[in-house]
Amino acid sequence: MAKKILFAVLGNPIAHSRSPEIHKLFAEEFGDSIDYQKIEVPLGEFDTALDNLIDDEYLGVNVTIPFKVDAFKSATKCTSRARQARAANTLKFEAGKILADNTDGSGFVRDVQQRLGFDIANKSILILGAGGAVRGILPSLLEADPRKITISNRSLARAQELQDEFGVQCILYDETGAEEYDLIVNATPTSLQNKAPLIEESTFNNCEVAYDLVYSSKPTPFMQMAERAGTKIVSDGLGMLVEQAADSYEFWLGRRPQTASVYEALRKQILASE
Ligand code: NAP
Repeated sequence: MAKKILFAVLGNPIAHSRSPEIHKLFAEEFGDSIDYQKIEVPLGEFDTALDNLIDDEYLGVNVTIPFKVDAFKSATKCTSRARQARAANTLKFEAGKILADNTDGSGFVRDVQQRLGFDIANKSILILGAGGAVRGILPSLLEADPRKITISNRSLARAQELQDEFGVQCILYDETGAEEYDLIVNATPTSLQNKAPLIEESTFNNCEVAYDLVYSSKPTPFMQMAERAGTKIVSDGLGMLVEQAADSYEFWLGRRPQTASVYEALRKQILASE
């Protein structure tokens, strides 16, 4: 029997991760024989964990909160989008080298443009939050050529860093009502705490797409707010999760899985589990 190709997702906490199910479905599509583990890495022990996986002949890993910056720093070579984000969610171990990519942005853009059918070019975008996910998304979002990206964050200093690095605009939450946006993205974990974002409902006036990076079995408080305001397309982040995983799979094995049926299967699993 062919030896299984070994993968893992590293994070802390990691129990909630759906990545093993997603990659199992991708592997079935190609008849690839893989083993994909969830590994909770103690804080401060990321490099040791990587060394152990390389010794055990893993081909690659996904990396999630809070290790994406450590993953980027561990790399011997990285893609330009990982370099711009200064964070990586995908590592490949090859001939003693660690290759890094960041597929969060490409996954997000593909989900918005292809599944939701919203063309980002020349559109005005508001992003709530300025953490690791926003850093990962910005390089791919800028490549899609929006007219303007505005970032609003609780701590302005963190948003200002992104303004300096990526040339986006940053504003306070209470200034978000002054303009209209075509796409509003919630990149804060407020929905996980069942809280609404710190913006007025009127911020969604004339908004075409509202996208919460958190995924859930029912509309999040952010999605509910957008729906009440009449936003045409309202989505959670499950599609991004599946698309970024497909880009990781391609980075490791050179073939990109189709994602529509995997998205549907995951959606069913999430509805059934909650
Ligand atoms: P992070 O680096 O910890 O950043 C969190 C951001 O949210 C920061 O800007 C923080 O503001 C803000 N924030 C936290 N709690 C808040 C609150 N109660 N009210 C207002 N703002 C708050 O996290 P991240 O990696 O960027 O991830 C953000 C979210 O995206 C998470 O929920 C994560 O699960 C999700 N995500 C989804 C996908 C996907 O594939 N769907 C991929 C990546 C991330 P301060 O700077 O002021 O602290």
